[in-house]
Order: sequence, then C-alpha cells, then structure tokens
Amino acid sequence: MLERIRIVLIGTSHPGNIGGVARAMHNMGLADLALVAPRCEVITQDSISRASGADHLLHQATVHSTLEDAVADCTLAVGASARSRTLPWPMISPRELAERLPDECQPDSARVALVFGREDSGLTNAELQRCHAHVHIPTNADFSSLNLAAAVQVIAYECRMAWLSQQDTASTTEEPDDALVTHAELERYFEHLERTLIAIEFHDPAQPRQLMARLRRLYLRARPEKMEMNILRGILSATEKTADKHRP
Ligand code: SAH
Repeated sequence: MLERIRIVLIGTSHPGNIGGVARAMHNMGLADLALVAPRCEVITQDSISRASGADHLLHQATVHSTLEDAVADCTLAVGASARSRTLPWPMISPRELAERLPDECQPDSARVALVFGREDSGLTNAELQRCHAHVHIPTNADFSSLNLAAAVQVIAYECRMAWLSQQDTASTTEEPDDALVTHAELERYFEHLERTLIAIEFHDPAQPRQLMARLRRLYLRARPEKMEMNILRGILSATEKTADKHRP
C-alpha cells in the first residue's frame, strides 16, 4: 500500500523543505516523491542535510512541469490545504483519508497522490479543484499553517498507521493458529460447562439467572479455536474429577 502513495509538492521554494519531506517520507515508509515546477534547486547542501540520510528519495524524485503530468497515472488525488475555500469541496481529515487508503490502493495499478502546496501561498483553487478531495490537518484556527515538511509528516504518519492496522488484521484473520471450533463443538462445550457448574454447585438450574446465556455470550464473543476448546474441555474434566473426589 505504501508503495502506491505519491507525495506531490507544487512550487516548493526551499531546498531544506524538500529534504525535510524526504526524511518524513522515508521515516514512514513512503518513497514516491514528485516535484511540480520547483522554485529552487532540489539537490543542495541544505536539502541533503535536512534529508538526514533519506537523500536517495531526492535523487529518485520525478520533476514535472504541471500537476496534471505528476498525477496522470493516479486513481485518487487529495490536496492538502490549511485554508478553507469559497467553493466547498469534499473535505476529509487525515485519519479519514488514511482509512480510505487500503481500499483505494487495492488494485496493483492504483496510485494515490497527496498534493501539497507552496510555502508562501499554498495550493491555488484551480489545483485543489483537480483533486477528488481536500485534506485539512485540524490545527489551531488562528495559526493553521504548518511547515510543509511537518504537514507531510502528519499525513504520512496517518498513512503508516492505516498500513500497520491493515497488517495486524491480515495477520490475525489470514493465519489463525488453528481452525475455529464448529457450532456443534461449542454446543457440546456448553453442555459440559453446565454439567460441571451444577456439579460444583455454582449453577442452580432452578434459579438460572441468565448465567448460561451470559457465559454463551462470552464464549461466542471469544470465537475459540479448536486447541483452546480442548484446553477448556480439559479444565472442565479436571474440575469434575476433583469435585467427585471431594464429594462426601
Ligand atoms: N501559507 C500557505 C500554507 C503553506 S504551508 C497557505 O495559506 O495556504 C505549505 C503546504 O503545507 C500547504 O500548501 C499544504 O499543502 C500543507 N499544509 C500546511 N498546513 C496544513 C494544514 N493545516 N492542513 C493541511 N495541509 C497543510
């Protein structure tokens, strides 16, 4: 997913900021940097020093004369803006943007452009209107404009968080240790559980007080695997045996 996200900087005027953006991107695992009509040199002492070891991104960066050219192969473009505009556009938060990314980046051919504006004047209305949506970092309304590299850092962090939670879900849903128990196995467990709870006098069927229903809800929520169910059944058998021994 992260490979399919392109950071596009329009009309940047400070090499140090381009270096800072490269560092922020590499920290978060992004690598695709596109520069549209930069108003400064890209590889300078300042940009290399601010990149702090991520200067390979500066060397790999593509340079374009127009925004259209930089995002031509993108399936989604989102413009980052500190200011609200007179013509309201679909506006999303960095988190909402990130939540959309796993789906947006799904096909191999998908490319998502995140477009950032000039240090002095941001993005023009025409540039923003070439984007599907606008993303606004919710800053102090009286002091809303972040440094360019800081704005990229915040958005790139949200992209990484979305990517990390996608990895988590993939590892828990695709590779369970063991198969989940079947409905029938669970029903057998509930019968065994009820028998045991009666035997140890924890449960009185004459006064059920929703106990079995509550336990059912608990176990159903846990979605036990076969091995876990074997352990639980083993605990019940051992409990029954011990209870038998202590019976007068
Ligand atoms: N002075 C400019 C802001 C320039 S900051 C203006 O008034 O628009 C450089 C770029 O960083 C902006 O174009 C935008 O892409 C991004 N940026 C800065 N602050 C932001 C914020 N609060 N939300 C979203 N993007 C922001």
